[in-house]
Amino acid sequence: MPPSEHAPPPAAPQTALRSGNPEAWQTLAQATIEGWGRDGRPAAELGGDDLARLTERVPLTRGMGRSYGHSSLPPARWPVVASSIFADRILRFDTESGELCCESGLLLRDLNRLSLPRRWFVPVTPGTASVTIGGMVASDVHGKNHHSGGTFGEYVTRLKMRVADGRIVECTPQEHADLFWATIGGMGLTGHILEVTFQMQKIPSPWIWERSERLPNLDAFLDRLLETADEWPMSVGWVDCLSQGSRLGRGHLNLGRWATPQEAPRREPKPRPAITIPDIWPDWIVNKPFMRIFNELVYWSHWRRVKTGIVSPEKFFYPLDVLRKWNRMYGRNGAMTQYQCVLPHTAGRGATRALLELLRREGGAGFLCVIKDCGAEGRGLLSYPMPGVSIALDIRITPETPRIVDRLNEFVIECGGRIYLTKDRFTRPEHFRAMEPRLDRFMEVRKAWDPHLKIRSAQSIFTLGDPP
Ligand SMILES: Cc1cc2nc3c(=O)[nH]c(=O)nc-3n(C[C@H](O)[C@H](O)[C@H](O)COP(=O)(O)OP(=O)(O)OC[C@H]3O[C@@H](n4cnc5c(N)ncnc54)[C@H](O)[C@@H]3O)c2cc1C
Repeated sequence: MPPSEHAPPPAAPQTALRSGNPEAWQTLAQATIEGWGRDGRPAAELGGDDLARLTERVPLTRGMGRSYGHSSLPPARWPVVASSIFADRILRFDTESGELCCESGLLLRDLNRLSLPRRWFVPVTPGTASVTIGGMVASDVHGKNHHSGGTFGEYVTRLKMRVADGRIVECTPQEHADLFWATIGGMGLTGHILEVTFQMQKIPSPWIWERSERLPNLDAFLDRLLETADEWPMSVGWVDCLSQGSRLGRGHLNLGRWATPQEAPRREPKPRPAITIPDIWPDWIVNKPFMRIFNELVYWSHWRRVKTGIVSPEKFFYPLDVLRKWNRMYGRNGAMTQYQCVLPHTAGRGATRALLELLRREGGAGFLCVIKDCGAEGRGLLSYPMPGVSIALDIRITPETPRIVDRLNEFVIECGGRIYLTKDRFTRPEHFRAMEPRLDRFMEVRKAWDPHLKIRSAQSIFTLGDPP
């Protein structure tokens, strides 16, 4: 591909794009834009409530930037990205069927605020409400109910998109089905998502009935995760990956279901007060002794072995949202990545322990390790989950991190597993190709809609091998 086909437009993009109605346009130009891992890059972010116009001349659209790596950052040679967050209208809601149509920048937190009192909820939610609906489609997010409910993409019925040749097209599982399924989990690489139509879920009450268990080691944890899958539609757990030997993987398993009207309190859940973590932390604060003490405290904070009771959806689904910008705890100049992979059941039950031991030997173990049970593979061409155990590990970025990720990837490939692109920062193209047999089909569809790969991200250049 000649480089000129990937060159930025001649005028500074933000100047060209700001020539519209000044009231409807805002430029969020920043020196640096970041994903959640804080490993940012210089770029301009364009914002406005007319996303269709905003996306006329940009290589990528992003939402809240809650993906950890570089998937929401544009290419270095065309450093401009459209922000969807002002395009956040709910366009239609059918109170009979629960079908909702919205602009892609609608914030999940705003939707929850409106839908919970009316006894509707999204069918799948990630572990933070600070995401846009467009971001949920592009990552084909999964939640605590993956084993029982699948990914968000399974509930999407229509997408309105601006594709690379400038056309605005609508796609559904029947119409332009190739584009539709490549976009579900396609990390924004098939086009700009303007509108999303999806099915909401009717809920019996706005409260969750929760059971949580403290478990002494990884075997006990994995046994309970799988044993409880049929009875509990939602499950997730934290495990301590810093402790060693028989205590490795001790942790808490949280199980939940929507409470019945009889179990639920009469009142509506109140929003939880949140605090913002200040950007004052020295870079060395998150070190091994700190993390060991932290994990010890977290483990014993669950002093009763089993707890049951009613909790709010906010507390159950989004425990970390009370600490706004908690990623700042990695230090003012600190950056982190999350390594998330799924190990299929066929890899055997020792595979999870082997991965955690490998991580500890390589020196990458941190204090956040979340384990989930994954059900059937989604239909999105790059959708992450497959039947198995999903493990998410926060890793502070150091010069050693690319090597650690390489070792973990080699292990995941041996097991027949795969990584989650929305968390990834360091996976090399040969590793991604080896773990993703669906990649050829994804690239075929992508190139059919965008032969010159005009739509691309810093991540697609690094991990999929797109031209710079
Ligand atoms: C604390 C925390 C917990 C999380 N828990 C989970 C979890 O449990 N399960 C899970 O699956 N994920 C989880 N995530 C990841 C998160 O759900 C995804 O990264 C999600 O995509 C973020 O949405 P966003 O609006 O911030 O998108 P961004 O981070 O801004 O973008 C993510 C990707 O979507 C693309 N994109 C966004 N909007 C559009 C659009 N309108 N058109 C085209 N492409 C678009 C971007 O180009 C990028 O490739 C978590 C993240 C955090 C920080």
